[in-house]
Amino acid sequence: MPYLEVRKLEKKYKDFTLSASFGVDEGELLCIIGPSGSGKSTLLSLIAGLEKPDSGTITLAGKDITGEKIQERNIGMVFQDFTLFPSMNVEKNIQYGMKGKKKKEEKKKLSDMLLSLVGLSGYEKRSVSSLSGGEAQRVQLARAIAAEPGMLLLDEPLSALDAPLRKSLRNAIRNIHDSLGLTMLYVTHDREEAFSISDSVLIMHEGKTVAMGSAEELYRQPKDLFTAFFTGEGTKIPRSLVYENEEGTLFFRPEDAVISEESVSPYDYSMHIILRDAEIISCEFNGGCYMLGINYKGYPILAQSATKPRKKSVSVMILKQSLLEF
Ligand code: ADP
Repeated sequence: MPYLEVRKLEKKYKDFTLSASFGVDEGELLCIIGPSGSGKSTLLSLIAGLEKPDSGTITLAGKDITGEKIQERNIGMVFQDFTLFPSMNVEKNIQYGMKGKKKKEEKKKLSDMLLSLVGLSGYEKRSVSSLSGGEAQRVQLARAIAAEPGMLLLDEPLSALDAPLRKSLRNAIRNIHDSLGLTMLYVTHDREEAFSISDSVLIMHEGKTVAMGSAEELYRQPKDLFTAFFTGEGTKIPRSLVYENEEGTLFFRPEDAVISEESVSPYDYSMHIILRDAEIISCEFNGGCYMLGINYKGYPILAQSATKPRKKSVSVMILKQSLLEF
């Protein structure tokens, strides 16, 4: 049985229904991604106990917590809005939720250790109002961990910060996860962020949990077209465009499609399908290579090229084994 099991969880609002089923192993870092309004925050609120589900169960460490109060769940939370107590200094904020009857020295030792873990040693006596956004977020993280939660929920914790800070803080979160072995659920709208720090990724769409797996699995072997497009760039074409009279849709990634400006022989490209007389519409340099927007019989296609094409009319070759069928 997984450490966290969400089974047939349902929550109905006027114009929205959430229905979720998934499991998370102990010590796993699961990222939850999906378009805005797909139900990510609602799902976290239900797990945290901020909202009550209409039906379904939530089990944590073998215990059914569906009907339990927030404080009985032993779940820590970090949100994008900084919710520190302005009247307390950094150290007091961290010590506030510490469990059990700890001696003063014990609390001090633990909060010093947590400050060092989040890279803020020496900040003990600072007033929280003097902190930058990134520092405040680190203190919030330390405070959530100080309560020794069985699991930590993070809802877009970095979305209010600028790009370089987001990158360094997401690495800090991953390092903290690795050193404590804490089970974490991390909601983000940023696919790159999810791919870079997760053990696995859960994709939500219109209130449903539609796919779950490692970033590589979801990118390489998506089970549906929504997941395919949500996990990265790609092209869909009707199967009939390649295989006459056959129904269905083919999908491929830009890196699996190459172009040739010369005429190509099927013998040289027996592992590929060949789309001849395609027209390059756009060419963007993305640092590593050129991303080409191509028109083939009215269908838009994305391909990659290591060099900048000189001709407009090209052949596109797509590796057969990379084609996904839907
Ligand atoms: P996400 O986090 O993926 O952006 P949310 O979980 O915040 O999505 O919202 C999902 C949907 O649920 C939205 O359409 C939102 O309007 C609706 N919703 C969320 N909370 C409530 C509520 N308390 N009452 C009514 N509708 C709500």
